[in-house]
Parts: sequence; C-alpha cells; structure tokens
Amino acid sequence: MIERTCDWIIEVTGGTWAGNAADRHRMIRGVSTDTRQLEPNQLYVPLCGERFDGHRFIDDAIERGAAAALWSQDRPVPENREIPFILVPEPLLAMQQLAARYREESGVKVVAVTGSNGKTTTKDLIATVLSVKYHVHKTKGNLNNHIGVPLTLLSMPEQTETAVVEMGMNHAGEIEVLSRIARPDVAVITNIGESHLEHLGSREGIAKAKLEIKEGLKENGPLIFDGDEPLLRQFLKEDHHPQIRVGWGEESDESPVDVQIEGVRGMRFRSRKYQTEYYLPLMGRHNVKNSLLAVEVGRYLGMAESEIQEGLAAVKLTGMRLELKQAANGMKIIDDSYNASPTSMRAALDLLSELEPGLKKWALLGDMREIGPEEKMYHTDLGVYAVKKGIDRLYTLGERGKWIGEGAKSAVPVRPIVIDHFDTIEEASDRLNREGNGDILLLVKASRAVELDRVIKKLTEGE
Ligand code: ATP
Ligand code: MG
Repeated sequence: MIERTCDWIIEVTGGTWAGNAADRHRMIRGVSTDTRQLEPNQLYVPLCGERFDGHRFIDDAIERGAAAALWSQDRPVPENREIPFILVPEPLLAMQQLAARYREESGVKVVAVTGSNGKTTTKDLIATVLSVKYHVHKTKGNLNNHIGVPLTLLSMPEQTETAVVEMGMNHAGEIEVLSRIARPDVAVITNIGESHLEHLGSREGIAKAKLEIKEGLKENGPLIFDGDEPLLRQFLKEDHHPQIRVGWGEESDESPVDVQIEGVRGMRFRSRKYQTEYYLPLMGRHNVKNSLLAVEVGRYLGMAESEIQEGLAAVKLTGMRLELKQAANGMKIIDDSYNASPTSMRAALDLLSELEPGLKKWALLGDMREIGPEEKMYHTDLGVYAVKKGIDRLYTLGERGKWIGEGAKSAVPVRPIVIDHFDTIEEASDRLNREGNGDILLLVKASRAVELDRVIKKLTEGE
C-alpha cells in the first residue's frame, strides 16, 4: 500500500497544512475512507454521500490511529486536533489525485477491464494468469467505481508488478475519469450489452461510454476487446491504439476453436492463432471468450504459452457467479444470483441447456433491473429465449420477472414446459424444496436486488 509523507500529500493535492510543522514528515501507510476498517497510520479520507458525511466520524478515525486526515476546506477544522489535517477543496478528488500520482510513481503495468458483462470474471481470470509470472494486485470484489478504483490503486503493495483494475459505470463520462486516474497500459472491453440502457439511451451510447477507457490508455497500449461486437469495431476504425479483437467470428484476430465442454468440471479449447490448447475449470461458453481476453493480456505482457496455460488451469472465481451447488433434496443448482442483464441471462440459459444432458432443466429467473424503458420487451424476449432453449420448467419471481413468464407463454415450446410465478422468496424456496430432486439441474438468476441468493441458501440448507 502507499507509504508517503504528509509533505508528499500536500504537494500532490495542493492542500493546505493544518498541523505542527514537525509533523509534515510524518508517514502515512495506506488510505481509508471507512473508520470501521481504518488501520493505524492510515490517511483518513472523509467522503460525503447522500446519506452520510465522513467528516462526522473524525473522532473514530483518530481513535483507530489515523496518521492524518484530508478535510474539506469549507468546513471548520476540529478544535482539539490530535492529528494533522490537510485542507483540500474536495477530499474525494484529492484521493483520486493521490491514486493517480502513486500509480505513476509505481511503474506498475496496469490492465484496465471494462464492459457490460464479465468484468469481474475477466479481471479475476487475467489476475490468475498474470500471477504465474508477476506480483499481481487486483480490484477486490467489485470495487470498480470512482471510489473503488483509487482505493484499489492506493492499496497496491510496494512489490506489485501488474495491477488488474475493474472499471464500472452507470453514466457517460465515468470511465474516462477512472481511466485518467489509472493510466492503463492495456485496456480490455469484455462486451457491450444492455445494462444501464436507462442512463445511456442506446447500445451506441453504451459502446461509446466503454470506449472512454481509451482516454487514459498509454500511447502504445493495446485495446483488447470483443471482436464479435460490430459497434466496437466500427467506433475503433480510426483509433491509433493497437487493437486485438477476440471473438468467435473469423474476422477476429484470435478465436477459440474446438471447444469441448467437460460437464460441470470445465472446458477445453484451442487458440486459433497459436494452436495452444487450454483447460479452464469453469462453466459457460462466454467464459471461453473471457479467458481468451486474459490469454491476450498475458501474451502482451510477455508470458510464455505454458505459463498462460498454467494460469487458466488454476482459475477460481469470486462468489455467486455461475457456481455449482447442491440442494438438500439432491437437485443440482447453477447459482448465478449475483446479477443479471439480458446478455448474461441468455449466456446462463445457453449454459443450462448445454450442461448435463441427462438431467431435467429448470430455471428460476427474476427481475433484470436498470435496463431502461424497453425493460418489458427485454423480459418477454427472454421468456421466448428460455422456451427455445428447451427448458422443462420456468419459474419466475418479482414484478418484472413475471413478464419473462408472459413471454414464455407466447412462444411455441420445443417440448412441454411448465411455467409458474412466485410472489415471495419463501414461496419459491418451499416449492423448489418440495419438487426438486436429483434428476434436476436448476439455474437461479436475477438482478442482485431480487435476493435470489436467499432462495439458494434455503435450498442448500433444506429449510
Ligand atoms: P458488475 O457490473 O456487477 O460489476 P461484471 O461486469 O463484473 O458485473 P461479472 O460479475 O463478471 O460481471 O458477471 C456477471 C454476469 O455476466 C454473470 O452472470 C456471468 O455469467 C455473465 N457473463 C460473464 N461474462 C460474460 C460475457 N462475456 N458475455 C455475457 N455474459 C457474461
Ligand atoms: Mg463486477
């Protein structure tokens, strides 16, 4: 993590010192915005949100051993001050400046990952591959916004050689800010989907917002992206950065070939470009593409094919993304309850239909949130898609989830299908507990807010 003097912080932020002159040489070790997690000698950064004001917790920060604190210059500095304060116009902005400078001084190679779906997955894949050769630092969990990205950079240990930084967004302009802070050496765009259509208006709007990642990308840094997405190809036509297109289509620079699904254990595939064979202990065809993005990052950063193979074979992902679980009644569950968008829902249904051909395929699907004014259409279309995929039973939950069922009822089934709706988590888990058995593979997926993870918990515990 960052180890610098207060003097350095003043220099970088242009802040005003409020403390004893002798303390200007005091070292801070790490940065924290949360007094509940603050560790001794860290710099406390008070953030303000709609419902909270970090300045109010300064006493806690001091008690936990903060070495110094940033402070908004338009607020009165606490009277009885036991630690030095650095007054700045906006602590969040100052923290971003510190992160940018620390990153610059570190000489670390930064890989930035954005896209509509698969950022965390691809971030984890890249980090696992790179860690075969390098000291890797990566975004913790999903800390991918204007606060999480600077905190990720500021927590890089001294020995870090490569950092893999996830960048998320809800609005235009946000990725540009993150990219200018992190100054990536490599930028990865996993795909363009429909999430956040609400704020961005169209898929074109989404593609442009993701492409803001170029704004901070180093002059010769490559863009490694979904070659199957026409919008990305189109918008990058005139761009001067090197480009590596990864996709299923022939026009991509690199494609997976000979994909072999090995049940729930994982998959094998070959690189069309180098003919190397890779084993990936993950499910889901979309993860083949995600891992080829990671392969390209590894190659660009000088790794041998054998090292990349070793990395992919060792992959393990952050929780609730396509995890295989077992219900108490013997039913197998694909837990993808972490979040959902039309693209990722289709990917999960593809997986459900491919896996375990001997089992009956059931799905419990719920609302896809934040997908804008066309939301009803996206839900009903998904219902049609589920029927086309030949699933045996479709259960839905949530206000919007209901539309998935309506869509399904309007489609012509490949084989007979049961469609039903639940009003509550309890109703869903009771029914599935009663009806499930070892002949069934159940997909569980919705936006995080629907809390389908609670159904999974009840099913695995048999409550
Ligand atoms: P968030 O916006 O919450 O940070 P994310 O972009 O980090 O999401 P992940 O958490 O990696 O995405 O995965 C979210 C969902 O997207 C999962 O359900 C996964 O199955 C699906 N997914 C992952 N990669 C792809 C892909 N390349 N195309 C479509 N769906 C994908
Ligand atoms: Mg994520």
